[in-house]
This record gives sequence, structure tokens and C-alpha cells, in this order.
Amino acid sequence: MRVTQHVDGTTHRRRHMDRQQILDLYVWAYGVCFRHPVKGVVPTVLVGVVHPRANGERQVRACDDCVIALEDIKREQAARDGGTYQPGSLGEHADQPNQGR
Ligand SMILES: [Zn+2]
Repeated sequence: MRVTQHVDGTTHRRRHMDRQQILDLYVWAYGVCFRHPVKGVVPTVLVGVVHPRANGERQVRACDDCVIALEDIKREQAARDGGTYQPGSLGEHADQPNQGR
């Protein structure tokens, strides 16, 4: 019998911030992603609220892929504008509990 020894120390590579670390910054709830409605109901993050004229308010929710994509955009924007990239702030202005429902 042969014992293979794997040195399994830190397989965790961090380039900038790990995908999972970014996702962990958010509160997840089931919903439909605004870019991937075909996925159906999946874990999503509230990233914004739109106010259609007809009916009060509509939440914009994003799935994990979209959250990462949006964070990437924010990071690039921050780099271009010389601003500070702060992960975990998507939809921070919309981050309220469901009121009046
Ligand atoms: Zn999506």
C-alpha cells in the first residue's frame, strides 16, 4: 500500500479578495436575478430599488455571479477614479427591511 502525502497547507490563494469573502459580505435571500430571470428563484442580494411609475417599488436582486460582476465593475471604477474600492456596498442605499409588505 502506498501512502501519498499531499502537502495541503494553504491552497487558498488570495489575489485581491476571494469570491466567497465578497459574497459573505452580503445578506442573501431567495429571489430572481435581474439579469438571469431564467435561473428562476436563487439566492440573491438586494442591489437596488427602482420605482416604476405604476406600482410603488420594485427590488432589484442579483445572483452570486452578478454580485461578483458588479463588484468587479466597482473595483475598476474605483481604480480609474482614484477612489477607494469597498466591497460589500452594493445596494447600500436600498438595504432596508421589507417595509409595508
Ligand atoms: Zn445573475
